[in-house]
Amino acid sequence: MSKIPVGVLGATGMVGQSYIALLTNHPWFEVKYLAASPRSAGRKYRESLVGRWHLRRGYDAALIDEITVEDANDVEAAVAAEKKGGLAFVFSALEMDKDAIQKLEESYAAAGIPVVSNASANRWTLDVPMLIPEVNPGHTDIIPLQQKARGWKKGFIVVKPNCSIQSYMIPVWALLQAGYEVKRMIVNTMQAVSGAGYPGVPSLDLIDNIVPFIGGEEEKSEKEPLKILGAIEGTAIKNAAGPLISAHCNRVPVSDGHTATVSMEFGNKKPSVEQIKEIWKKFRALPQELALPFAPEQPIIVREEANRPQPGKDRDADKGMAVSVGRIRSCPVFDIRFVGLSHNTIRGAAGGGILNAELLKAKGFLG
Ligand code: NAP
Repeated sequence: MSKIPVGVLGATGMVGQSYIALLTNHPWFEVKYLAASPRSAGRKYRESLVGRWHLRRGYDAALIDEITVEDANDVEAAVAAEKKGGLAFVFSALEMDKDAIQKLEESYAAAGIPVVSNASANRWTLDVPMLIPEVNPGHTDIIPLQQKARGWKKGFIVVKPNCSIQSYMIPVWALLQAGYEVKRMIVNTMQAVSGAGYPGVPSLDLIDNIVPFIGGEEEKSEKEPLKILGAIEGTAIKNAAGPLISAHCNRVPVSDGHTATVSMEFGNKKPSVEQIKEIWKKFRALPQELALPFAPEQPIIVREEANRPQPGKDRDADKGMAVSVGRIRSCPVFDIRFVGLSHNTIRGAAGGGILNAELLKAKGFLG
């Protein structure tokens, strides 16, 4: 099978670099098109990255180094590549003004190039699905409605949620699916520095310190789960009524891996600690059934040790795509508390975007 040519917008950034590294030897997709700001455009990828490769893993240099970086604002360049068969869709990992990202992603979709986005700009667009493939794969059903409403033929936009919510929303979804209503949650996140992009938080602010504020993050952590758990009504995704979430988001001196400590209150039916462990261990969803290349074999890994999960030891579980949970115990205020951990630039960013694209390909939307 010949591979689908893909592009990365924001290829020089933290998440863009993660896409390049993770897509090396991908069985379905091949990176053929790279774009970033006008500052990087016109240079070979290798040259644009001198002194700016931030990851601890590399990529298949020979294939990608020689690609000339385009200006991501130049949609015509992408259309020309698409016409030559060198681009089927783009991953968007842009960091710029939100309105500008929203308009740019729409321009790509209008020009017939599907956009699989990591940016938050389109997360609240009513007909744009915000996907976690294990949780709401059915929200892709809104894509034909999105295309019809905008007059787009081939193009469309899907987004992935904020990087920290995977660590608790996949476990919460497994419990909801098993018939347990989660009514209220208190979530305390300890978020890695890579989540802020590069150069991110100044080192003097973070070494030997914790910053108890990440702009906009608590609102995202509280509201995005409601869209993910929502339902398509007419031409929009209508938010679910709950759970009600109170989030405290902190930046901590960890390189990669967002950790969340969570207390949950259930409805009338309350699962025991042992039942929760069983549900999480057995949980499988559509990405596992379809055997998507980036799907973790076991989406939720239950750690039994008293002091796990930890970002340094557990963030890379199943190529950084599994969520690790532990310390599942009763809560004297709510019912149950636990610790969740997921890799923010893999499951929470580029890996999550790749899994979204694999789901779309398996459902016939790409390629
Ligand atoms: P980043 O490291 O700051 O990279 C930003 C990218 O956008 C670079 O490639 C940059 O190109 C490009 N860019 C900047 N201004 C531009 C412009 N005016 N026109 C075109 N391109 C421009 O950011 P990041 O951390 O990778 O985040 C990328 C996106 O993913 C953001 O929307 C972020 O919210 C989201 N996200 C990040 C994470 C994470 O863990 N870091 C997780 C989930 C979602 P140059 O290099 O040429 O300047």
